[in-house]
Amino acid sequence: MDFKDDSLIIAQGIKIQKLISLSNFTTWRVGGRAEWFAEPSNQEELKKIISWANLQKMPIQTIGAGSNLLINDIKIEGLTICTKKLHGFKLDKTDGLIEISAGESIPNLSRRAARAGLHGLEWAIGIPGTVGGAAVMNAGAQGGCTAEWLESIKVLPLNGKTEFEIQSSDMNFSYRQSRLQHEELLLISAKFNLEPGHDHNKLNDLTNANLNHRINSQPYQLPSCGSVFRNPEPLKAGKLIEDLGLKGFRIGGAEISKIHGNFIVNTGNATPKDIKILIEVIQKKVQQAYGVLLQPEIKKLGFQSTD
Ligand SMILES: Cc1cc2nc3c(=O)[nH]c(=O)nc-3n(C[C@H](O)[C@H](O)[C@H](O)COP(=O)(O)OP(=O)(O)OC[C@H]3O[C@@H](n4cnc5c(N)ncnc54)[C@H](O)[C@@H]3O)c2cc1C
Repeated sequence: MDFKDDSLIIAQGIKIQKLISLSNFTTWRVGGRAEWFAEPSNQEELKKIISWANLQKMPIQTIGAGSNLLINDIKIEGLTICTKKLHGFKLDKTDGLIEISAGESIPNLSRRAARAGLHGLEWAIGIPGTVGGAAVMNAGAQGGCTAEWLESIKVLPLNGKTEFEIQSSDMNFSYRQSRLQHEELLLISAKFNLEPGHDHNKLNDLTNANLNHRINSQPYQLPSCGSVFRNPEPLKAGKLIEDLGLKGFRIGGAEISKIHGNFIVNTGNATPKDIKILIEVIQKKVQQAYGVLLQPEIKKLGFQSTD
């Protein structure tokens, strides 16, 4: 082990950085500093980094593209692993199978599948997350969701044990839920089983139409985390919020989007606390008006249950 600047070299080419601001790694553009931070670019590096953290007996957090994460502006203890550099992609046009690493982007996957004439992920074009985050969150849009097309995933236990595979049928998938939200496992890769033999022009057109629809109906120009609340089906969280006249309502720099009631946007100087308080204000107002307690879809990091 060797110290270089403010980072630690734990083996050749494997760097762990100290006190890295996580606001650059979330789409809300807020968040404190990670005590230790690593962005492994392959599985070997990842395994070495995890064993290093286990030797130091420190907690490990995983983040993907940070597009569904509210990180508090405190020091995030232990090691934060960002998977965005875990790249790898294998596509079989004939049988529709795609093997893909955790850090690949979902819009990229959607585009590549459509170009190859594989139907299934045209809805995924506007979701700015990673493959890992999409499987953990069972991300979905416009009637589609990850669970529908995922065949299996490979995971690495954060306690350093050996990697193993989980079939989609064992993922306990439901609306924006999976067992990975409750287990100390890092998703390293996924297999998708798409429908081969479709006209790639038609799939590209549908993908573009889906993206245009989203750009026209959602606030893509300001930092956000997409929908903040799960829809209390059959109701829509955005509609309940909008009907209360809350669009444009602000706490500090956090604003309920004027375009979509279920988005909270960072107007420039929002703090994690602004966003958290705004979430609580919305919950209170919606509950008072409709008797419905909205459940956040976003995940939090660095908050106490009492915060
Ligand atoms: C503009 C915008 C639009 C959006 N639209 C949608 C939408 O239509 N539908 C939708 O479902 N979501 C949407 N989202 C939310 C978000 O993009 C998805 O939830 C996405 O799947 C999160 O992926 P991520 O890589 O950013 O995960 P992160 O936000 O980094 O992490 C989310 C959770 O997954 C865990 N995690 C991430 N990667 C791994 C891994 N490899 N192994 C283990 N755990 C991991 C994290 O610990 C965290 O608990 C939107 C977000 C934005 C900003």
